[in-house]
Amino acid sequence: MAEKVLIFDTTLRDGEQSPGASLNKQEKLIIARQLAKLNVDIIEAGFPVSSNDDFEAVKQIAMQIKGPVICGLARTIKKDIDRTWEAVKYSDKPRIHVFVATSKIHMDKKLKKTEQEIIEMIKEMIAYAKSLCPDIEFSPEDASRTDAGFMIKAIETAIKSGATTINIPDTVGYAEPEEFGKRIKLVLEKLKDLIIKKNVVISVHCHNDLGNAVANSLAAVRAGARQVECTINGIGERAGNCALEEVVMNLETRKDYFNLETNINIKEIFKTSKIVSELTNLEVQRNKAIVGRNAFAHEAGIHQHGMIKDKSTYEIMVPEDVGWLGESFVIGKHSGKNAIEKILKENGYDFEEAKIREITKKLKELADIKKDILKKDILEIANNLNKKTG
Ligand code: MN
Repeated sequence: MAEKVLIFDTTLRDGEQSPGASLNKQEKLIIARQLAKLNVDIIEAGFPVSSNDDFEAVKQIAMQIKGPVICGLARTIKKDIDRTWEAVKYSDKPRIHVFVATSKIHMDKKLKKTEQEIIEMIKEMIAYAKSLCPDIEFSPEDASRTDAGFMIKAIETAIKSGATTINIPDTVGYAEPEEFGKRIKLVLEKLKDLIIKKNVVISVHCHNDLGNAVANSLAAVRAGARQVECTINGIGERAGNCALEEVVMNLETRKDYFNLETNINIKEIFKTSKIVSELTNLEVQRNKAIVGRNAFAHEAGIHQHGMIKDKSTYEIMVPEDVGWLGESFVIGKHSGKNAIEKILKENGYDFEEAKIREITKKLKELADIKKDILKKDILEIANNLNKKTG
């Protein structure tokens, strides 16, 4: 059987940090419930110390949502860890995710701490978190810009202090796929014995500043990472995070290449995307892979003709697989007679060749005025024609 890649959804934490998005407790619960239906392995529900509202939301999610691990984020500060534990402890499967920056620029400018001080903080705070909660994740923030030797030392310290998931974040979206894959491989090689002995999962958290979030996550998976942190529709800080639907459908569609599986119920993808988009007020880009309005829309006549003969000519995924609710055929200036004939037949019209040509001509005229011609437009023209000929 293929190995599993765990899907860690951070829509409610990093995703909610998207400029322009903010979710109240009720909205967070709706999304969390849908994420459980989607069957994500871990829900990062929030950053409890950041506000009372966020604390309450994480607590309610921990109390009400069954199935996934419920995780909260904390800095390497005792009050953060306490607050997070107070919120997640109601879950059957609680997790505390502790992070501290390890890149020189973050340590010098933001934390004003030396390497040795950072190592001490990791040792102390991971051990403290572990004394409260059996499932601890550690992230060396800005890992992709951290000196490799120091990153390994920080990770080793975290594992020895009790962390069982190590997340390597590309916090600022700076990494390139091949390079990022090598960094993951380095961790797995340098700490091989410890990782095996403690049964540690290596995770990644990639940002999309250069548009590489999904590619970097997949490169990491190829190198041996077995948890991917991602968000629905790729929302998140700045240009966003790795898009859950894209990483999952890569693994699914190219099983021949990855030979890996996820637990995701892919039929819930489209619905989840809609709910998140509506509640966050963040519109999905029209040509977005997997969930964009155009993702399965074929307009060019030659494509539509091929699609009717055999869908696999132009379609590597079936829209129904991801629970697609939209129309997959858009009739435009470039559409051909075949597509229109198919829609007519499906709706009970059996017109002869000449009639179909006439309808096609009318639709193309309409397409000049109105960009999207949908099924209802075709049926309206067909109805009118029927009436005329009686
Ligand atoms: Mn992030």
